[in-house]
Amino acid sequence: MSRKVPYRFYLTEDQMPTQWYNLRADMKEQPDPLLNPATLEPLKEEDLYPIFCKELAHQEMDSKTRYYDIPEEILGMYKIYRPSPLIRAYNLEKELGTPAKIYYKFEGNNTSGSHKLNSAIAQAYYAKKQGLTSLTTETGAGQWGTALSEACAYFGIPLTVFMVKCSFEQKPFRKAVMQTFDADVIPSPSTTTQVGRKILEENPGTTGSLGCAISEAVEKATTTEGCRYVLGSVLNQVLLHQSIIGLEAKKAMEILEEYPDVVIGCAGGGSNLGGLISPFMRDKIVDGKDVRIVAVEPASCPSFTRGKYAYDFCDTGKVTPMAKMYTLGCSFMPSANHAGGLRYHGMSPILSKLYHDGLMEAVSYEQTAVFEAAKLFARVETILPAPESSHAIKGAIDEALRCKETGEEKTILFGLTGTGYFDMTAYSAFHDGTMKDYIPTDEELEKGFEKLPKVDK
Ligand SMILES: *Cc1c(COP(=O)(O)O)cnc(C)c1O
Repeated sequence: MSRKVPYRFYLTEDQMPTQWYNLRADMKEQPDPLLNPATLEPLKEEDLYPIFCKELAHQEMDSKTRYYDIPEEILGMYKIYRPSPLIRAYNLEKELGTPAKIYYKFEGNNTSGSHKLNSAIAQAYYAKKQGLTSLTTETGAGQWGTALSEACAYFGIPLTVFMVKCSFEQKPFRKAVMQTFDADVIPSPSTTTQVGRKILEENPGTTGSLGCAISEAVEKATTTEGCRYVLGSVLNQVLLHQSIIGLEAKKAMEILEEYPDVVIGCAGGGSNLGGLISPFMRDKIVDGKDVRIVAVEPASCPSFTRGKYAYDFCDTGKVTPMAKMYTLGCSFMPSANHAGGLRYHGMSPILSKLYHDGLMEAVSYEQTAVFEAAKLFARVETILPAPESSHAIKGAIDEALRCKETGEEKTILFGLTGTGYFDMTAYSAFHDGTMKDYIPTDEELEKGFEKLPKVDK
């Protein structure tokens, strides 16, 4: 018998994890290596030094070290907003009439409104430690740009953010938040980079994509002295930093004498999901634990469920290394009426490998169904969820409703990655009925696949 658990459970500061966990160290089959696009040879750590700072390049390539001590300075900043609460969704369970127990780990308790700050702090810290003089990045919906602005302001590093143009226009207040933290925010594609000018020439009316913004930021980093690029998702190093989410969640559940039967998370580039599942996936791989892991993605940007497992560029301008991952092709741009975030064409190579090997599942939902789940959740749990996070909510609700049918008392854990206060344009479209679902046709996806680089690996 598990004892009655509180609505909100916080680890104490002393119980907080002091190490990150590197899931690759326990994966029996490793993800395929990053490739140098010029030679098609596997990249070496040094090849990454012009793009990333050295410690992060090391973390990116390190599949051996199981645990990394979290530096004191980073822990010091984590403790401002962590541990994040593990919440038992009693109200949601009651509303659904499910016998399932639903828990969620809420990462929206910081100014970025998302889990992204967990990696932003680490990346800014290592850049500062190496003596770099500026950083640059891209942001889609704006959470990553905000998180990194916070972290850079804290460590005193100037930051340029390339923000996908349609978000820049839809979310003017995001820019104001980033400016509060002294970031320079540029709508992408822009005329400030060669690759941006080229994309604009070929596609004059484009409202941008994450892939374009990444190309611009990478160009800026590689052409500016003392400047490096940082990325908020997809990369191995980001999953490493985000493991704090899963480690906290697992420890909290241990104290509550609980263990999830199903772990559910939304998937854009895979960072929150990779972080949340890492210790549970470890248990599955190493100890043979019977835990299901489910990724939830938008039907309008279905990398896992309809993408190809292939080598591809991580950006539209093809300036980055190539990664083997589930991808819709680096030229893929989600429909402009897609409001729910999670717009990236590819997926974390670690998660891609796990999915390919059958260790996790994936589902996709249309955005109106996702917003319905968001509304139901907000009404009973009082948190206004980010559209991205609402994909996980929808996944958890559907799982709980299946339990209602079968009478199974499963324990469900999902990741509530953030809040949706900057997504009111999307919420308004949902409320007034103008939000449309868009599912790309096979022919449309085929166009993206045709342009995949020809790599015989
Ligand atoms: C960025 C973001 C996501 C998706 O990114 P992942 O790297 O897939 O985690 C999900 N939720 C929120 C709130 C985000 O800001």
